[in-house]
Amino acid sequence: MLLENYKAVRRNIDEACARAGRNPENVTLIAVSKTKPEENIEELYRAGVRDFGENYIQELRQKHDDLPKDIHWHMIGHLQRNKVKYIAEYVTMIHAVDTYELAQTIEKEAVKHNRRIPILIEVNVAEEDTKFGVSCEEAPELVKRIAETLPHVIVSGLMTSAPFVQNPEDNRPVFRKLRQLSVDINNENTDNENVEMKTLSMGMTNDYIVAVEEGATLVRVGTAIFGARDYSHKQ
Ligand SMILES: *Cc1c(COP(=O)(O)O)cnc(C)c1O
Repeated sequence: MLLENYKAVRRNIDEACARAGRNPENVTLIAVSKTKPEENIEELYRAGVRDFGENYIQELRQKHDDLPKDIHWHMIGHLQRNKVKYIAEYVTMIHAVDTYELAQTIEKEAVKHNRRIPILIEVNVAEEDTKFGVSCEEAPELVKRIAETLPHVIVSGLMTSAPFVQNPEDNRPVFRKLRQLSVDINNENTDNENVEMKTLSMGMTNDYIVAVEEGATLVRVGTAIFGARDYSHKQ
């Protein structure tokens, strides 16, 4: 069942790529497994799925401890600075960096583990009060500052969570804007090897098809794969 859901999402992504003239290999589907049991992850893992997304540090640590070590763990949620140390050794990518201070902490922890950690800058494109992320205007400055001063942090691109809308078409301008911002920032940083700007993490269950049409390279899909989440046991 889970695998069928996963394959259906993957098929939709491939079709969106075909419509947009994109190579489907350039889009990675991250299965967002937060609040879901480890058996669910194992089921997909056995079918070859390796990219999973989590939001809660406690839960991510537990799953990382218990599950195969070649899983690519994406930390997609808001991250507190004092929690970075728990995931720095193995996290594949930190998606939601929106302050220089958080990036500084990631730098410090990356050095400890003798690695460079890929991050994305979270942009609140629609400027919703309820969401984290920098504005489109602030993003270039933050990228530049991190890239120039924190050598163990790789700025790999941008991430956004678009507004919840009835019609996913309504989010097309949001995705388009994030993509354009990424192109602009890349052009401004051609001489800095710490800025790669090839990743666009955008699109969730409700709007990933539109996001892929607009250039997403990572889509974060939970509900369409695992079903609705139950938060009643979480504090
Ligand atoms: C939970 C979550 C998702 C997945 O959302 P669905 O609507 O279930 O696909 C994607 N991105 C972030 C940042 C999330 O917190």
